[in-house]
Amino acid sequence: MIDTIRIAIQKSGRLSEDSLKLIKECGIRFDNGGGKLKTAATNFPAEILFLRDDDIPGYVEDGVAHLGIVGQNVSEETNKNVNTVHKLGFSKCRLSIGILREQNYEGVQDLDGKSIATTYPRLLGEYLKAHQVQANIHEISGSVEIAPSIGLADAVCDIVSSGSTLLSNGLKEVETIFRSEAVMIANKNLPAPQQALLDQLLFRIQSVQEAKNNKYILLNCPNESVDNIIKFLPGMRSPTVLPLAQAGWSSLHSVINENDFWENIEKIRQAGAEGILVIPIEKMIL
Ligand code: ATP
Ligand code: MG
Repeated sequence: MIDTIRIAIQKSGRLSEDSLKLIKECGIRFDNGGGKLKTAATNFPAEILFLRDDDIPGYVEDGVAHLGIVGQNVSEETNKNVNTVHKLGFSKCRLSIGILREQNYEGVQDLDGKSIATTYPRLLGEYLKAHQVQANIHEISGSVEIAPSIGLADAVCDIVSSGSTLLSNGLKEVETIFRSEAVMIANKNLPAPQQALLDQLLFRIQSVQEAKNNKYILLNCPNESVDNIIKFLPGMRSPTVLPLAQAGWSSLHSVINENDFWENIEKIRQAGAEGILVIPIEKMIL
């Protein structure tokens, strides 16, 4: 039997689309039609398992799946014995405490003696302990944000991204207790063939992530401006400079970090660049 690596991802929810996209961007092809629970990749020795996100850390700990993609919030809350092998940069959110908007709030001590509804009793418990607050943790399994308005609890501790859900339930965010993004987790005792496949996968993920952070830039400039412009475009080793058909002009090609691009574009123009093109990169191997 060929050794394959089993990767667990969320079946349907906020992580699903980006998890599938990442695996596809790594060049791994599979058929995920028909609401299947398991599918085999056609061009890489991998199987994808579609599960509820809460179950993924446990399956990875047991070795039912070798790898999993979950939010750090779920990974930390479930507290399973797994390795976090890579941050994936999507599904960024935070775990926050919210209280009714009209209530006064001076600081975390105001939560003393209050009841807080949450699906994250472990993370909340640790936070309260660290801040020496005695509050009653009310564990519920969903719809946390309505708890204060129906009198079930004084406060909530829940996942927030824009804050609009809190707002529409008459709540305000008063403390952020944990920042999260999607991560890849792995079983702690991977057999050698699966470890080798994980290394291949991480190499591909890194090249996809590098590519996303960088752009290919082409521009034209008078020959005498080349040295000046190159200062802003160091490139991977150094930029490519090609002569234009028009005498005295060059075309300069380089790779630039997207953030540096917005910071430096004005200086590049002032240094004499024109006809600037910025092109996405699909894969980048350093
Ligand atoms: P499941 O049915 O698989 O248990 P779920 O309802 O528990 O799904 P989702 O709401 O799909 O979970 O969220 C999955 C993960 O996505 C969360 O654990 C969190 O890491 C992240 N997440 C949740 N809400 C947001 C948000 N508003 N913005 C970005 N990421 C989020
Ligand atoms: Mg869940």
